[in-house]
Amino acid sequence: MLISVERRNLCPLKTTIFIICPKCGRKGKLGVKKKNAFGQRKYMIIHEDGKCYVSPLDGELWEALDRLYSSIRKT
Ligand SMILES: [Zn+2]
Repeated sequence: MLISVERRNLCPLKTTIFIICPKCGRKGKLGVKKKNAFGQRKYMIIHEDGKCYVSPLDGELWEALDRLYSSIRKT
């Protein structure tokens, strides 16, 4: 799923994560929405012509994204 990680500076929050979208199979940038009431993040994959969203309701897809994001951002 992961394509590449671009580190622009030392701040992990400014890191750009490029992945293959688990929803539509195209390349995109991983973005994060704020946490929900359960402390879970929602993710979005930003494409040139739209966005796909991955929420905890997506089960394994979301868990995989969450692990990936946490391992890169160390949050
Ligand atoms: Zn997509």
